[in-house]
Amino acid sequence: MLAAGAAVLPAVSCTTQSALKGEIPERYNAHLLVVGGGPAGVCAAIAAARLGTQVLLVEEGGFLGGMATRGLVAPFMTCFDARGEKQVILGIFGEIVDRMVALGGAIHPREVRACSEFSAWITAGHDHLTPFDAEVLKYVLDTMVREAGVKVLFHASFVAPLMKGKKIVGAVLKTLSGLESVRAGLVVDATGDGHVAAAAGAPFEMGNKETGKIQPATLFCHIDHVDSKALRADVEAHLHEFHRKDGVSYRALHWHVAKAEAAGEWDIARKSVNIYRGVHEDEWAVNSTRIANVDATSSESMTDGEVEGRRQVQELMHFFRKYVPGCKDVRLRASASVLGIRESRHILGEHLLKAEELIAGEVPEDSILLASNSVDVHGGGSGANSTRYTTINADWYGVPYRSLVPLEIEGLLVAGRCLSASSDAAGAVRVMPPAMATGQAAGVAAALCLRGNVAPRRLDSADLRVELLRQGVFLG
Ligand SMILES: Cc1cc2nc3c(=O)[nH]c(=O)nc-3n(C[C@H](O)[C@H](O)[C@H](O)COP(=O)(O)OP(=O)(O)OC[C@H]3O[C@@H](n4cnc5c(N)ncnc54)[C@H](O)[C@@H]3O)c2cc1C
Repeated sequence: MLAAGAAVLPAVSCTTQSALKGEIPERYNAHLLVVGGGPAGVCAAIAAARLGTQVLLVEEGGFLGGMATRGLVAPFMTCFDARGEKQVILGIFGEIVDRMVALGGAIHPREVRACSEFSAWITAGHDHLTPFDAEVLKYVLDTMVREAGVKVLFHASFVAPLMKGKKIVGAVLKTLSGLESVRAGLVVDATGDGHVAAAAGAPFEMGNKETGKIQPATLFCHIDHVDSKALRADVEAHLHEFHRKDGVSYRALHWHVAKAEAAGEWDIARKSVNIYRGVHEDEWAVNSTRIANVDATSSESMTDGEVEGRRQVQELMHFFRKYVPGCKDVRLRASASVLGIRESRHILGEHLLKAEELIAGEVPEDSILLASNSVDVHGGGSGANSTRYTTINADWYGVPYRSLVPLEIEGLLVAGRCLSASSDAAGAVRVMPPAMATGQAAGVAAALCLRGNVAPRRLDSADLRVELLRQGVFLG
């Protein structure tokens, strides 16, 4: 399958925007090219392959999982309705969780409640999270893509699209062998940053169009050798001190941060520490570094952000050891190998999802998933330390298929963080369970389009919903 030179599609004449036109060997043919092996891309690839589509999944790193593995982001945010009664994100996300639970690599979200060590003691929007082990996730994803028959190519970066007019017909990749091209019937952009769609000419907004701001980045780290009993006791004795002031949430350990700051030992914009206990008793995921104004589409900006992130991680380690009960022997298990990017490009599609729609609990006719994740906007108010957090006024809202279909460019779907949503709305649906669900929908849509020779823009969303329901997706 997908051997070098395999002729799956008829040859078409096309142009590449690469300056190296004419020097690039055509290495692969695929019905569907999925770019990016993060939560969205993996689910897109699996869903399409299970429907008999020949899928090539390309990922610039050496394993799958995106932010969940490279970025060490954890836990999976809620997959339940807003009442915390029913799991509403199921499908491939649900299968991944079940497999990890069976391997001892996750705690099932039904057992994880808000305001506990697993939710950083946060209440709003933090019920039924899924703590997981990133190493187990890597293995589970390798297994699932193999079982589905997806051809995976690691160490392969998207460089430029192959275009035929306004239609994308493949891509130039940078692989370990040099530049190579792949021809594809359809392409799913699951790069998080919308690299493919932007390069193909799809319109997009960068960050928040109204304010011109971009949410701060965070370099995650995981720590272990924590005496969790002592840490728990300290936070639980101070729970009444969690509060909001001037648009800023002061959460766990701010009572110790204040002491460190007074001693000149805290130079991080966030004034409290978001720590989520992991699957194992002494392990915690730390979501607390704060780096403002990072442009995820610039290597220079990412480099500066990553160096600053590692500086802040060292400061946090000193803070834990000196100030936090139960943490005097703490060890840095790992800092993320890539900076965590909350926001970059929002590709503009047939529908631009708005926060008001989510907050009101609107469920459009072409909804491809239901979710209850809150609108979580960091750094939008009084500087990088602020967090605006708005829960929704309904059990759930729907994300329409139209938000996966970019304007102007044919042959392309977007999934995951770069979908068509305003900055605020993306602050809700960018988290991993809905990102996976958008991936599954994009994969199914691509398979149906290829099967029926229909452009993504013309696909009947009723057919898509029927297939998603058949695959166990909850649509109300
Ligand atoms: C600081 C922070 C905290 C968060 N907290 C949570 C949380 O607690 N719970 C939660 O559920 N979600 C959380 N999120 C959100 C979540 O992690 C991401 O939004 C989600 O992973 C998006 O999934 P994705 O597949 O769209 O993108 P990603 O996870 O970013 O995956 C994109 C993949 O594409 C690959 N890629 C990119 N460019 C190319 C290219 N040119 N060629 C080939 N491959 C490429 C990348 O290597 C990556 O593997 C957080 C995010 C951040 C940054």
